[in-house]
Amino acid sequence: MSENYSDAMLKQAVGTAHKEALKETAGENASYIPYLASVDSNLCGAAIVTADGRVFEAGDSRFEFAIESISKVFTLALVMDEVGAPAIRDKVGANPTGMPFNSVLALELAKGKPLSPLVNAGAIATASLVTGSDTEARWQRILDMQSAFAGRGISLSDEVNESEQTTNFHNRAIAWILYSAGTCYSDPLEALDIYTRQCSTLISAVDLATMGATLANHGVNPVTGKTVIKKENTQHILAEMMMEGLYTASGDFAYEVGLPGKSGVGGGILAVVPGKMAIAGFAPPLDPSGNSIRGQAAVRSVATQLNLNLFAQ
Ligand code: GLU
Repeated sequence: MSENYSDAMLKQAVGTAHKEALKETAGENASYIPYLASVDSNLCGAAIVTADGRVFEAGDSRFEFAIESISKVFTLALVMDEVGAPAIRDKVGANPTGMPFNSVLALELAKGKPLSPLVNAGAIATASLVTGSDTEARWQRILDMQSAFAGRGISLSDEVNESEQTTNFHNRAIAWILYSAGTCYSDPLEALDIYTRQCSTLISAVDLATMGATLANHGVNPVTGKTVIKKENTQHILAEMMMEGLYTASGDFAYEVGLPGKSGVGGGILAVVPGKMAIAGFAPPLDPSGNSIRGQAAVRSVATQLNLNLFAQ
């Protein structure tokens, strides 16, 4: 239980993690989305939010960055609550692809089944399952879900959205392949539009740790006390994160850190310790797989200091 970790222990852990992260100097900002290339590469923040709602932070923990791929987790949560875990597994899948997050080849090899809701194809298919009277109503439901997880009103960045909508040609191809295979469940360009918007909201490391703590706390946001999703779905979401949360390095992260995680090309990374806490890191420079180098270092440091690896005995 999270009460076993004292305030002093957690404050020290996040401070040390931030210092450890700053020692890493490799990597580069994502450049295929123009906005991301322009973010200050020196920014670095870390946060821990416990399953009983305590917040600890260090560095640029309130700087708001683009959520990007981490948004996939929360749209998955929204749709899973509505259609149930078996339907997600059937329509989208529950396996790692072993290939880059935007791979067309992975989609072709699986005959149009995305396999994971945490790769682009699977996330676009998941977005196509969001119900609502029109595009704006469907988008609002996604935004409301991100806000409920974060415990505050999350907003779209028009600048990030514009940058993505005008350069997402590869994702457009993926949306059409899904559609031709019968695995896009609404108009493909509308699904892509709301998927692209969901990637373009701004969150801080503290927001991200709060979102993760909601998963750690069985779907109840520990800061607001509000139930966000059904308890029984959190285990499936965390399993998806363990399998595909860090792109092609998901296996390495499981091997080394032993926690379900999710990263985004905006430099954010989240790890969840079920029943205990969530750890978030943020720093723009990425490794070749697309994961924040300093963010991973921060998460790894907290997990090591507090002995959080789920597989350690
Ligand atoms: N919006 C980005 C894309 O669709 C998100 C990628 C990511 O963070 O992995 O390519």
